[in-house]
Amino acid sequence: MNTRRLPVQLDDIRAASARIDGRVLVTPMIQSALLTELAGSPVHLKLEHHQTTGSFKLRGATNAVLSLDAEERVRGVVAASTGNHGRALAFAAKAEGSRATICMSSLVPENKVSEIRRLGADVRIVGRSQDEAQKEVDRLVAEEGLVMVPPFDHPAVVAGQGTLGLEILDQLPDAATLLVPLSGGGLAAGVAAAVKGLKPSVRIIGLTMESGAAMKASLDAGEPVLVEEVSSLADSLGGGVGLDNRVTFAMCHDLLDDVILLSEAEIAAGIRHAYAVEREVIEGAAAVGIAAILAGKIGSSGPMVAILSGRNIDMERHRRIINGDDIYGRNAA
Ligand SMILES: *Cc1c(COP(=O)(O)O)cnc(C)c1O
Repeated sequence: MNTRRLPVQLDDIRAASARIDGRVLVTPMIQSALLTELAGSPVHLKLEHHQTTGSFKLRGATNAVLSLDAEERVRGVVAASTGNHGRALAFAAKAEGSRATICMSSLVPENKVSEIRRLGADVRIVGRSQDEAQKEVDRLVAEEGLVMVPPFDHPAVVAGQGTLGLEILDQLPDAATLLVPLSGGGLAAGVAAAVKGLKPSVRIIGLTMESGAAMKASLDAGEPVLVEEVSSLADSLGGGVGLDNRVTFAMCHDLLDDVILLSEAEIAAGIRHAYAVEREVIEGAAAVGIAAILAGKIGSSGPMVAILSGRNIDMERHRRIINGDDIYGRNAA
């Protein structure tokens, strides 16, 4: 029995849920007939890729913005993410009458820059690497008092992501196993804290790609470790957990029952199944749950829920994956 008090508790997630109510969508959950047949247990898909901005990240970003005090809200928030967190933070800040500044390097493709601008953020292009963009974030925090909202390692962000867990148990009270995409662990930590807080018997399984999985390597090592980044079809699952991780490592360590790894070919099969059978466009990170069921990597034991976490995939790349031309993630768009 572990008695350490984790940084985000069920009560924090309930408070987040009340705070963001009406500002994020309640997304549908459907049962998949074919996956149910394959798994030998009911398989439900939580269609969170239909969330506003195309991913669950809006939950954490909205909770973080709503948790600012009045002065902080005037000064605004800042982050260096060009992916789903950047999109979510841009949208959340604008929706609450605050400002988001998103810093990115000059190597970020123009379509990503304009998407984030369209969502209402001030975009600042600095340097030629993610590290240089992060330095500009640090400068804006130190010199202009902007509030940094990181993509996962922050209590308000984790509590916001955890509201997805409350919603799942609401929609399927007899859920026995949850399949959760895992990168920095904000989603898995939040969902696990919510679901285990209400129903400790639910198994929470983190899913990630075979190579470059920083949280898996860190859990194996017993502490946050650095992992070399490798390009993957599950691009939203890339990146480290932070050597100075304060929130998500301990929570994933204590709350996850297992972590399962998927190959690029398995992730591609997940994207294809989602499209061809379920008629859903999802990105690689969102396909890991389906991929694990298709690969026979999940033992059947009662109703399962796979979280489809996002849909922000380049559509040309999606077309190539559906056609079977981009199986290993090497022909990056
Ligand atoms: C960020 C993200 C994840 C991983 O979430 P973490 O909180 O970093 O573990 C999974 N899927 C999608 C679509 C994401 O954007």
